[in-house]
Amino acid sequence: MPVLDETLISVFEEVVRRNPGEAEFHQAVREVLESLGPVVAKHPEYADEAIIRRLCEPERQIIFRVPWTDDAGQVQLNRGFRVEFNSALGPYKGGLRFHPSVYLGIVKFLGFEQIFKNALTGMPIGGAKGGSDFDPKGRSNGEVMRFCQSFMTELYRHLGEYTDVPAGDIGVGGREIGYLFGQYKRITNRYESGVLTGKGLSWGGSQVRTEATGYGTVFFVDEMLRATAESFDGKRVVVSGSGNVAIYAIEKVHQRGGRVVACSDSDGYAVDPEGIDLDLLKEIKNGRRGRMSDYVAQRPGSRYVADGSIWEVPCDIALPCATQNELNGADARSLVRSGCRIVAEGANMPTTPEAIRVLRDAEVSFAPGKAANAGGVATSALEMQQNASRDSWTFEHTEARLADIMRSIHERCLTTADAYGSPGDYVVGANVAGFIRVADAMLALGHV
Ligand code: GLU
Repeated sequence: MPVLDETLISVFEEVVRRNPGEAEFHQAVREVLESLGPVVAKHPEYADEAIIRRLCEPERQIIFRVPWTDDAGQVQLNRGFRVEFNSALGPYKGGLRFHPSVYLGIVKFLGFEQIFKNALTGMPIGGAKGGSDFDPKGRSNGEVMRFCQSFMTELYRHLGEYTDVPAGDIGVGGREIGYLFGQYKRITNRYESGVLTGKGLSWGGSQVRTEATGYGTVFFVDEMLRATAESFDGKRVVVSGSGNVAIYAIEKVHQRGGRVVACSDSDGYAVDPEGIDLDLLKEIKNGRRGRMSDYVAQRPGSRYVADGSIWEVPCDIALPCATQNELNGADARSLVRSGCRIVAEGANMPTTPEAIRVLRDAEVSFAPGKAANAGGVATSALEMQQNASRDSWTFEHTEARLADIMRSIHERCLTTADAYGSPGDYVVGANVAGFIRVADAMLALGHV
């Protein structure tokens, strides 16, 4: 493990002690602290004002019971979370995740990452995350609706367009945001569009929000390629996942001239040497909520692999777009062996610390999610802007704004990495640039 700067060791130990058993949260904190050594050396005021210690402690953590009735009339019980981590830069902002693996440690890791990601976008948004251990898989529309209504019946009192603005994440898409907004509106008797993002286009949503995380990741990689006078043209790309982020990453890679030769779901992966057929994938995933095995059954020339790792498929560029810690040390070694040159995170923290070390040692360019997947939340901030001005922009205008934002995040990462003695290191660049923006706002706001 890379050594932590001495002043930061005690901060990390305090985080571990105060948040026992929350491995993902510890991992996310450690990864940021490892970048901050040169920053605290240059700016002792951050340590004097306990900025880093305060950043690691959420401003507010809400945990609540979510009872709901299933189609058989049985009462079901889940746990809901919202961790409002930091509001120095703007109202709390970050998605909701519905997945059986959700517990406080996952929500905290996601909320912590969100602070720096949101800061990097340059937009006025604080950091938060929420969700539930509810498993939407196999649930009917009616069950999902009743769950969302019960979830919002507690959460609404903590939300508001100037307070806390949730959106989607794994298991929460346009359908769920609709049910959540409907219940918020009913309870508060207010059509407060800016309270949630990821809304439908006909009732306050923004063009490009659905596509934004995947598109943004590819825009970011385009900038990485451009920095070495290359392009997507003819590149083989592997994208893990087949949800919202993966689908629109695949779409944009194809538009830019690359070829996505594999994608996956939680059961297995499909290899498709001709390039993933996106219409078929969208129809299966969005239309039928089907599996990758259904894709392979309908796609001549492709094959399905039920066990093993998608990172064994040779590629030039790897985009992990599924979930946390899905790409480990052994996977990173496979990628290095097959000649992969770029790894960019479409998901949040999909690459383990060991894998990041393997990639760094082999000089594979690595873009962390805070930078590479910030396009989703950035477009949420554009949705908030449109809601505040009761306006709606065209697809072209919104996509151009997203591309600009990704370009400036890329630029900010490289300039900051240079300034802090790690040229070309996107991890240092993203962590330090995000940190400084939040830290300076916290200094200005006093001890709150
Ligand atoms: N869940 C997304 C993320 O990880 C989007 C959050 C949002 O739009 O608020 O950044």
